[in-house]
Amino acid sequence: MERILEVKDLRVNFKVRGGIVQAVRGVNFHVNKGETVAIVGESGCGKSVTAQSLMRLIPSPPAVTTGSIRFKGEEILTKSLRQMETIRGKEMGMIFQDPMTSLNPTLSIGKQITEGLVKHQGMSSEAAKTRAVEMLKLVGIPNPESRVSQYPHEFSGGMRQRAMIAIALACNPSLLIADEPTTALDVTVQAQIMSVLKDLQTKLGTSIILITHDLGVVADSADRVIVMYAGKVVESGKTRDIFKNPKHPYTRGLLRSVPRLDQKKDEPLIPIFGTPPDLIKPPAGCAFCARCDEAMRVCVNNDPALVPVEGEGHTAACWLNHPLAGEGGESA
Ligand code: SF4
Repeated sequence: MERILEVKDLRVNFKVRGGIVQAVRGVNFHVNKGETVAIVGESGCGKSVTAQSLMRLIPSPPAVTTGSIRFKGEEILTKSLRQMETIRGKEMGMIFQDPMTSLNPTLSIGKQITEGLVKHQGMSSEAAKTRAVEMLKLVGIPNPESRVSQYPHEFSGGMRQRAMIAIALACNPSLLIADEPTTALDVTVQAQIMSVLKDLQTKLGTSIILITHDLGVVADSADRVIVMYAGKVVESGKTRDIFKNPKHPYTRGLLRSVPRLDQKKDEPLIPIFGTPPDLIKPPAGCAFCARCDEAMRVCVNNDPALVPVEGEGHTAACWLNHPLAGEGGESA
C-alpha cells in the first residue's frame, strides 16, 4: 500500500513563562493512500498540535518542532514557507471545528472555492466557477448555482461545514486533515457531514486524518485509530481491534465514556476521572498512572514503550501487556 505520510519521532515544544511545554513527545505514525486515520484523545493530548504541525501551521517561535514529517516522499519540516503555501493549497487541505472562524466573511463561498483553483491549478475564472458549483453539489448543498454567490453568514452551521469541505477538496488534495469537523454540530448533521466526507473520499481517493475527542465519531469512518495521551501515542491499530479489544486502560476509559451503537441499554457512561499531567514536567513513568485504576508499582517510574499486541498492526504502551504482567505485579 502506498504511504503518503510518514511521521517519525515528532516532538513539539512550546516555550512559555513557566518553562517548556512538551506538547508532542515523540510521535510516530503513517497514513496510506485513500485511508482514514483517526487521532483520538482528550483536549490537550497533542492531537491538534500534531495535525497542525503536518501543515506547518504552528508558529515557530514559540514552538520548536523536531523529528521528521515525510509527505509523498518529501520532508515537510525543511520546506520554505513559500513551498508550504503551495503544498497547503494543492496537496493538503484542512477543515476545522468552527467554519465561521476559518471562512472569510467578506468573500462569497464561490470566491473562496475558486481562489485556490485559479492560484494553484491555473484555471480560468470561468472554469473555476463551474468547478465551484460542482463541488457544492458534491457536498450536498441544494441549489448550488445560486448558493455559490452567497456569503458564509447566509449558510447554516451544517452548510458552512459542507462549504468548508468543498473549499478544502476543490484542488483535489492527497491529504485532508479534519480537526474536530463535527464537534459544533448536532448529531444528525454530524452524521451527514461524516457521510459527505466518506463519499468524497471514495470518489476522489483522498487520505483523511480525522482529529477528534469523540471515539463515537470514529467507529464508522476510520480505518485505523491512533489514541494519544499526554503528547504520546498510547495505542494504535485497526478500528475494529481498538473497539473490540482495546489494550490500554485509557482507550478502555474513552470507550466507556461515549455512547456506542453496541452499548447495552443499562450500561452507564463513565467519565475518566482526574486530569492529564502537566506537560511542563511530564511524569517519569506512565503518564496515565495517576488516573489509572489498574496501575502497578512498575508504572510509577517506568514509562512503558509502544509494543505489538494482539491484532495486525495493533500496538499499545502499557505494562499490562508485558509478558510478566499479572505474575506478581503489585498495585501502585
Ligand atoms: Fe495503567 Fe500502568 Fe498501563 Fe499506565 S502502564 S496505563 S498506569 S497499567
